Amino acid sequence: MADLPGIVITGASGRMGQMLIRTVLASDKARLVGAVDRSGHDWIGKDLGTCMGGAEIGVTVTDDPLEVFAKAQAVLDFTTPEATVGFAALAAQARAVHVIGTTGLTEDDLAKVAAAARHAVIVRAGNMSLGVNLLVQLTRRVAEALDTDFDIEVVEAHHRHKVDAPSGTALMLGEAAAEGRGVALRDVADRGRDGITGARERGAIGFSAIRGGDVVGEHDVIFAADGERVILRHIATDRGIFARGALKAALWGQGKAPGEYDMADVLGF
Ligand code: NAP
Repeated sequence: MADLPGIVITGASGRMGQMLIRTVLASDKARLVGAVDRSGHDWIGKDLGTCMGGAEIGVTVTDDPLEVFAKAQAVLDFTTPEATVGFAALAAQARAVHVIGTTGLTEDDLAKVAAAARHAVIVRAGNMSLGVNLLVQLTRRVAEALDTDFDIEVVEAHHRHKVDAPSGTALMLGEAAAEGRGVALRDVADRGRDGITGARERGAIGFSAIRGGDVVGEHDVIFAADGERVILRHIATDRGIFARGALKAALWGQGKAPGEYDMADVLGF
């Protein structure tokens, strides 16, 4: 047991944090060695098991990441961009694999993550599920096959608590569609339509976001032409798919050369 990779989970009390904890505890390939939450959170200093409504598990929730990163082989991090940028530097210092599921990172945040990846392995993906990563590959190929007679729209739906839009997954799909077309997404993305927007521009890749209820995550990539439409769809019904993907990434990253990787690397696509 002691030689299994030790995992720390940040944002332990969050929706994904709790799912990650259950996934690592149920795994026979890794062991949970730490849980981090924000300073001032009422879980700090308490046993993680009891915080989650069960028996004690001998892991105390801390607000001192470096202390627990130092004894970990990997950090699973689904928190906020600000927190993730700080964790990237600390995980690199501890030479722990940093699996980043957090979305909504700015260009500036990404530059800081890239700097940390010079010293340690970082696996970052806006979506850690097998199905969505397959959808990304399919989107690239369909976009390659169809010309700009087909308008591309990415439509996503998420629960009412989500704070960023478009979702990280929608952006991954948009990037894949743009790559398939041989263009840069930033040059063709059409986001946040409202009011008199004018007619749709040929070659644009549009994004729309629905927010409501407890939707885990749904993504459609629509290729719409005169007279026909192709729709690629992924529906997530359980956050366990993201947590299992994140754990897989943490195990895959052990012993790899420092650098930034994504789920396509992990899944061998
Ligand atoms: P959530 O429920 O709000 O959880 C975020 C957690 O991070 C909260 O417990 C929060 O604590 C904690 N946190 C914030 N700042 C922190 C800090 N400085 N130190 C330690 N902990 C901190 O959100 P979620 O639904 O789990 O989603 C989290 C992120 O993962 C989002 O960016 C979401 O888009 C992304 N996500 C990615 C995937 C994927 O496959 N890549 C899948 C699902 C979600 P407080 O609540 O106390 O602030």
